[in-house]
Order: sequence, then C-alpha cells, then structure tokens
Amino acid sequence: MTSFDDHARAIKRLLDAFFGAVSFEAGSAPTYERLPDLVMPGGLLIKNTGDTPEVATVDGFIEPRQALVDSGELTEFAEFETHGNTELFGQVAQRLSTYGKRGVSGGAAFEGAGVISTQFVLTPAGWRISSMAWDDVRLPLTGGCNCGAVRYEVSAPLVGASYCHCRRCQRRSGAAASPSAHPAPGSFRIVAGEDRLRVWKPEDGGEKWFCGECGSALFGNNPSHADPIGIRMGTFDEDPAVRPTARQFVSSAAPWEPIPKDGLPRHEQSRHAAQP
Ligand SMILES: [Zn+2]
Ligand SMILES: [Zn+2]
Repeated sequence: MTSFDDHARAIKRLLDAFFGAVSFEAGSAPTYERLPDLVMPGGLLIKNTGDTPEVATVDGFIEPRQALVDSGELTEFAEFETHGNTELFGQVAQRLSTYGKRGVSGGAAFEGAGVISTQFVLTPAGWRISSMAWDDVRLPLTGGCNCGAVRYEVSAPLVGASYCHCRRCQRRSGAAASPSAHPAPGSFRIVAGEDRLRVWKPEDGGEKWFCGECGSALFGNNPSHADPIGIRMGTFDEDPAVRPTARQFVSSAAPWEPIPKDGLPRHEQSRHAAQP
C-alpha cells in the first residue's frame, strides 16, 4: 500500500511541475505544453482575483498566456509555492498553498502573492489536478495595534514567516510561541503613530517594538539577521498570505503546550544559526 507520505510527495511534485511549466527565465520560454499532462480531462483552472471568477480549461488557460509571451509582452515569469498542506483520503486529495510570483511585463517588473486551492484525483496514470483556484493578496498589507494609534503598511509580498518559542517571545506575547512574518527589504513602514512606538532592546537580542499606548507587540528588528524585521502576524488586518515555515528556539518551548506535529523544521536555537 502506498503511504500517505508517498502520495503527498507525488502531489507536491505534480504541483511543482505545474509551477515549473508556467515559469520561465528571460530569454527562454514557458513550457505550457506540459500542462495538459498534469490536469485531468475536464479539469478547471479558476482565477478569482477580481469581481467575477475566470473559469478556464487547460487550453483556455494557456491561450491568453501564450499570446502574452508570443507578443513579447511577458518576458519573464516565476511562480512558486511558499508553503502548502495536503490532505487526502483514498484517491482524492486537496492542497492549500501560499504562493509567490514575479515577472516582467511590458518591460516592468511585477510581483505578487496569494493562496491556491488545488484538488487532485488519483487516476490509473497517477495523480492529476482536477481543479485549481487562486486569489491574490491585495497590497499594501496593513495592520496596527489594538488602540489604533500605530499603523503600518507592507508594500510588497512577504518573503516568509516563522514561529519563535524563545522565552522573550513567550513573555512578550503571553503565548507559547510567537508567529512573525518577514517583509522584503524596504517594504515595511509605519504610516501612523511612529511617536507612540516604544522599544525594548535586550543587550544580546533584537529590538522589540510595541505601542506605548496599548502595549500591542507590533514588530521586531534584528539587523544581524538576513530578514531583520519580524511583523507579529496577529497584527495584520487581513490574512497576509504567508504561513510560518519554521520553528525556532524550540529548546525553550513551553512545557504546557506541546508543539504541534506540523512537519515544520525545528531549530533548537535561532533559525539563523548553524545547527549542531
Ligand atoms: Zn496602540
Ligand atoms: Zn523569540
């Protein structure tokens, strides 16, 4: 009997193959012709980023995109999963994925992020996509503190997110672990209440910024990290379309709340430090 992990790996490969077929570097071309092998006959691809869903067959999906490539409008494109979770029973499965995308259209660079819901069906030839539906995150992302004094914006798709189980995050948040999202360099800014912000900076750690009026923890800043800013995920106004993909400082994890078996990589100390 094929194990859950084998099926889940096959499903992930299928989805990665889909992203691979629509992605292409400057000077090369997408391999849209691979898509019909990945989607079962009658399968639907549904873009739901506007007022009305755009429902397409594989051919209908490829046609306008191929035209953009042929005309020289779309000269570069990459789409990739940033996190995903598969559920399956028998010969049916689904995966909810956060994704990022970037490209060059009409000479101008663009980027985006969002969430894709994909359904899969096991056929005699293997897993196939039976439907895929997606929606993009609206930028800028916005958020702020409880009293409304401090507000922030994020102008580009977030690049990642992680849980921290350190004692400082436990005390700062009152929770067993603190999820933070990491913005692309230069994309995060305070748009209101900068003068109300307060900071706590331990000698051997990064800055922890919070609202001086209501105490809401808003973000951290540790310039020694590759992604210095960590926006506290609970402070976003809307779903920011990233999911935590790692857990750090699990050596100090709270004994009163077992870490969920979510398959995320666990780092004893900082996820930036080399693992022993
Ligand atoms: Zn506040
Ligand atoms: Zn921490």
